[in-house]
Amino acid sequence: MFTPITGRSVLVTGATKGIGKGIARVFLGAGARVTITGRDRTAGAQAAAELDADGGEVAYVCADVGVAADNDRMVAEAVDRFGGLDVLCANAGVFPDARLEDMTEKDIDAIFATNIKGTMLSVKAAIPALRKSGHGRVILTSSITGPITGYPGWSHYGATKAAQLGFMRTAAIELASSGITVNAVLPGNVVTEGLTDLGDEYYQKMAASIPMRKLGTVEDIGNAALFLATDEAGYITGQTIVVDGGQILPESLAAVEDQ
Ligand code: NAP
Repeated sequence: MFTPITGRSVLVTGATKGIGKGIARVFLGAGARVTITGRDRTAGAQAAAELDADGGEVAYVCADVGVAADNDRMVAEAVDRFGGLDVLCANAGVFPDARLEDMTEKDIDAIFATNIKGTMLSVKAAIPALRKSGHGRVILTSSITGPITGYPGWSHYGATKAAQLGFMRTAAIELASSGITVNAVLPGNVVTEGLTDLGDEYYQKMAASIPMRKLGTVEDIGNAALFLATDEAGYITGQTIVVDGGQILPESLAAVEDQ
């Protein structure tokens, strides 16, 4: 049994939909008070209303993680509203695809602006409040793509997701003496609104390459993040948890087919 995190203030970036919204829902279910962010105000207000209806204290702040002032403001608003900040889930991310030969400089700048600059700026902005909390937690949403696997069209995406882990290891050392841990969750293929739109055939095709024969849920990722936020996980820092139904394990297609 883990010590409850009831009342803790949690900030989840990029939580107006998808995995971030799932992480927010799991933390709210555990009694935390949650601030969610994203750039689209309409989606943000809608997500906050939906999460609020499920019960719990939730607030939305319109912020772009790629902009330093936005990160400072989202942390300030979370601290003002919920009396501090205990957990930052740096989750906001984008994954447009482009083959390397067709990729433009603009494509590369855009993905790095959100996925890596945004991760670094959000963590930097949260440090004073997390230090004050006495049990600060940073949980990054990375991916299996980049750190472990590759996928055509995602060389730039994979580079940002691997870069998050490079950032994490030094940040974990720098923040350890303040009692702040920095860890990452590496999702495999997760069902989000975007994927649902692609239909059942697409789902089955993707599920066929996963030993558990199903994709992950946003709650699967939220539960891993919740564990890393507990007091009991307080001696774990600079580490990764892969949440992928065994997707990275098969050494060939036959290994899954012969299961
Ligand atoms: P999603 O459904 O597209 O949601 C992305 C969220 O991030 C939205 O709330 C979006 O809102 C927000 N966002 C995007 N750019 C932002 C920015 N610059 N500033 C603030 N918020 C921003 O994506 P997802 O699938 O949930 O992915 C979330 C994270 O999980 C990403 O880091 C992704 O790399 C990682 N991941 C996903 C999967 C998967 O299978 N889905 C697998 C591995 C890793 P706005 O557009 O309104 O800003």
